[in-house]
Amino acid sequence: MKRFKSAWIVGLVIITALLLLILYRYISYQNLPVIHMKASNITIRQDEELPALSVDVEVDKEDEMIEDENDYSVSDLVKELQEGKHYQIVHTDDLSKEGEYQLEIKLDDETQKKIDKDWKWRVRLELEDGSMTILNKYGDWEGKKFLKTDGTYASGWMDLGTSTYYFNEQNEYVTGEQKIGNTTFYFSDEGILDENKNTINPAKPMLALTFDDGPGKYTMDVLNLLEQQKARATFFVLGDNVPKFPEEIKKMSELSCEIGNHSTSHPNLKKLDKSQIQYQLQTTEDRIYQIIGKESTLVRPPYGAVNETVRSYIDKPIVLWTVDTLDWKYRDTEYIKKYIIENAKDGEILLMHDIHQTTVEAMKEVIPELVEEGYQLVTVSELKEFRDVGRAVS
Ligand code: ZN
Repeated sequence: MKRFKSAWIVGLVIITALLLLILYRYISYQNLPVIHMKASNITIRQDEELPALSVDVEVDKEDEMIEDENDYSVSDLVKELQEGKHYQIVHTDDLSKEGEYQLEIKLDDETQKKIDKDWKWRVRLELEDGSMTILNKYGDWEGKKFLKTDGTYASGWMDLGTSTYYFNEQNEYVTGEQKIGNTTFYFSDEGILDENKNTINPAKPMLALTFDDGPGKYTMDVLNLLEQQKARATFFVLGDNVPKFPEEIKKMSELSCEIGNHSTSHPNLKKLDKSQIQYQLQTTEDRIYQIIGKESTLVRPPYGAVNETVRSYIDKPIVLWTVDTLDWKYRDTEYIKKYIIENAKDGEILLMHDIHQTTVEAMKEVIPELVEEGYQLVTVSELKEFRDVGRAVS
């Protein structure tokens, strides 16, 4: 009986001691110095550079020791944290997507290990995430209006990264079927241009490739490249060559490429009289018409030689170029590739010649690369509708 009683007392003492120990630990833990770290909240616009991310570090008791042997105190740790040591701020890498994201404070492995073990009864660390808001880089929606970052409302065509809109005179986006200029466009109820129903997106870059002096034996290669890339170009053909390459003329028409009149035998029209000029142009028209039942839509005089007199005899738009590749002179595939890629810009009309093998070789890389870069390869007449090409039009 006595033995039983003493065992009972020993048990009670042990349990009490354990409870006291737990209570002591709990109270000690509650009394530990607390370092509170809070990542800041920031707001940026898409693709903006990330500003320096800051973390607020606060502590309630600074004088306590963390490592007695190293004379390392809480205030030492706080100072180092304030200097940006021992942690990283983890965030999304993709600054191109609108949205709200976390800014997470992550201690480096070594510090995290110390906090969990060696410093467990010396200091507590509380980490509070911050937030990163990424706004549309072009501005902000206000109902059907879009306030741009420059403080004005969007008007006309506007590409907002993923979607294209057209804003009317009230600065509101349009919906449904809309005739803008000479073209009918289709928009969703949210105002987004339906790119499947429209062949051209006026808000995106476009340029016109033009080929003079053909058709020739390499022209079909150019046409096949255009077909593969769903692209178009303009061919200013010579009447003397047209009957030799009827398949090429048919294919140009099938691919919705534009056919222009470059005279019959490439004379300087400024040196000809009215009847000679009319003969040069009309012969080419007749030969094109015989093949596809349609006339050309533009004229480009040989050498770009045009004056008031020549102009007065021509009743179609006369279009020259804005970028002369000088491909006929250099006959160098690498040179032509490099020159075009460097000079390709929205709204340009590039002059080339499809009778040179070096030019056509260059096109094998140039056409896919321009498409890849986001250029719409359009005809001269299409470009004229959406861009000011006044400097190329006589
Ligand atoms: Zn020419």
